[in-house]
Amino acid sequence: MTRIVVKFGGTSVADVARIENAAGLVASEVARGHNVVVVVSAMAGVTNQLVDYCRAIDPFHDAAEYDPVVASGEQVTSGLMALALQKRGLSARSWAGWQVPIQTDLAHGRARIVSIPSGFLDKALTENEIPVIAGFQGITEEGRISTLGRGGSDTTAVAIAAAIRADRCDIYTDVDGVYTTDPRIVPGARKLDRISYEEMLEAASLGAKVLQTRSVEMAMKWGVPVQVLSSFAGAVGSDLPGTLVTKEEDIVEKQIVNGIAISRDDAKITLLNVPDQPGIAAAIFGPLARANINVDMIVQNVSTDGTATDMTFTVARSDVHRAVEILKNDSTMSACEIRTDSTVAKISVVGIGMRSHAGVAQTMFAALAEKRINIHVISTSEIKVSVLISEEYTELAVRALHAAYGLEARGRLE
Ligand code: ADP
Ligand code: ASP
Ligand code: MG
Repeated sequence: MTRIVVKFGGTSVADVARIENAAGLVASEVARGHNVVVVVSAMAGVTNQLVDYCRAIDPFHDAAEYDPVVASGEQVTSGLMALALQKRGLSARSWAGWQVPIQTDLAHGRARIVSIPSGFLDKALTENEIPVIAGFQGITEEGRISTLGRGGSDTTAVAIAAAIRADRCDIYTDVDGVYTTDPRIVPGARKLDRISYEEMLEAASLGAKVLQTRSVEMAMKWGVPVQVLSSFAGAVGSDLPGTLVTKEEDIVEKQIVNGIAISRDDAKITLLNVPDQPGIAAAIFGPLARANINVDMIVQNVSTDGTATDMTFTVARSDVHRAVEILKNDSTMSACEIRTDSTVAKISVVGIGMRSHAGVAQTMFAALAEKRINIHVISTSEIKVSVLISEEYTELAVRALHAAYGLEARGRLE
């Protein structure tokens, strides 16, 4: 029997009618003789509301208390989904993360899944009962509720698919697949039939929030085929109407550039007058790392006088105030001026074909230059080039790059 994990995102369970629609999709899979595990997100907007409640009480709230608050949205949807399935004559039971249990580490608000025992899910499936799991949430070794970071229901779904050795994990959302870029920003964006784990991982980590980055990491590690598809199209996952995220070997047409990712979640920090001496980078980035603040792009200028230099780097926008506080309180930084800019966007071009093709970055720089868009910071890896620009030029830049790489028309490798 084919085993499928199906996950419904917030807009796919936004109200009772949408939940009933999602239950109909599950029923279609069951009618085809498949074993199904369902994972649900909170109803659209609910998690944002819950986050706002926490922030209203204290912007620097205790993450261990934020978790039980924000996890509550998924509990509501899981019960409603079980009811909607029961109404269709199916046997279904809802389960919170702690009941499975989805065991996580202690990093409240951004916890990582450590283990999921499959026994209980296997038993439910052999008894033809559909488990409906509340996504996004788990339990720490201290017995406290944890959450997996925004968008974390994707990771719950893939982790469960890995644990029960599912044949596929279908992620139902509000777009019918993974596109060359966010279709809400570039209407001419093209849907991809397939994308490799590596490309999806880069795209997700660079801002394509259609899948949470960790879900792609996990899918790649355990070889789980993931399909992104729409719950609005009336299509059933088993007909493979969406985009399949899969192994590189399964991609026949390898693109030089396969997509453009956009992130408006970064902020730029510039330190002026940094002492130009050995160990300074460790002195700056060590305390940030210890505070769990991820630093992404980094540029250090050449010192003109041999004593002081400037350094620019990016952190998540939500971390910028904490980062500045840490830097201000650091004695090595006492002579530095700290500037921040949260009106930046990171635009990245991604493609596995880049490994064997030169000139990809130059096409990007030329397209941006033609639109007179200034680049603040550049970073590259084997399969991506990222630039940091002013946020106001995001749409202009993405449209220009989409055209420059011929993404509507397909920039095929010979
Ligand atoms: P859900 O609530 O179902 O988890 P999300 O809002 O997290 O949905 O993710 C779906 C959204 O991801 C789409 O509405 C789209 O705007 C956005 N998105 C960003 N980049 C892409 C891309 N390359 N392809 C498809 N969707 C994308
Ligand atoms: N409800 C959570 C969020 O909005 C998790 C998810 O939707 O994946 O981030
Ligand atoms: Mg999501």
